[in-house]
Amino acid sequence: MCTKMMTTKLLYTDNSSLTEFDAKVTRIGPKFAVLDQTAFYPEGGGQPTDTGELIVDGREVKVIKVMKRGDEVFHYLDSDIELGATVHGVIDWDQRFQYMRLHSGEHLLTGLFEARGSGPKVFSSFSQLDFKPSEITEEMVSEVWKRFDEIIDMDVPVEIYYTNRDELDVGDDERKQSFLEKIPKDIHELRMVKIGEYAETFCMGTHVKSTADIGKLKSLRLESKKKRRKIVYFDLE
Ligand SMILES: [Zn+2]
Repeated sequence: MCTKMMTTKLLYTDNSSLTEFDAKVTRIGPKFAVLDQTAFYPEGGGQPTDTGELIVDGREVKVIKVMKRGDEVFHYLDSDIELGATVHGVIDWDQRFQYMRLHSGEHLLTGLFEARGSGPKVFSSFSQLDFKPSEITEEMVSEVWKRFDEIIDMDVPVEIYYTNRDELDVGDDERKQSFLEKIPKDIHELRMVKIGEYAETFCMGTHVKSTADIGKLKSLRLESKKKRRKIVYFDLE
């Protein structure tokens, strides 16, 4: 059976709250299917894969893992489905919402630390931020924790906007310059994620609508490593 390569439309980039959608199967293989559009987030950018199910003719097929390869999104399944079939996708929303909370919280923490002169972030996950070279102090950590919780109470909107790489004016702001350098050169249209005046960065991930959804911090802990590397561990309530 011949299947040509088609672009999968990414529904989650415009609507991170979309939990169900209809789509057509454009390519198949052993226990995988490519769809013409999807709301499933494929793993990447520090955010793990969504899981859930595809309903095909009343039959429930589990989506175990989702990966983007080129312009196509591959849904890895627990059984085979037919080419050309119409499917109804349902995302495991509880899991996705937790991911979005942690990921959005990570954006806000990064912005707050960098604004206080933390130095550049070199690694981040759902529980950890690494800065190097960095001079983060315990005092700064308490300050950031207090500010973070205040911003959660203020319920600041998380905005998404697009900008052209060439139009993005970073001036002589070193933090923004280094951030722009990290983005692959072949990406010209940048999807920006902005949390008020507190955090602004390029990101393709999924985020909550406003800071109240993130929730307050349960813990924020600093660890100092060799060569001016500072690790901040965090957990949400
Ligand atoms: Zn993001």
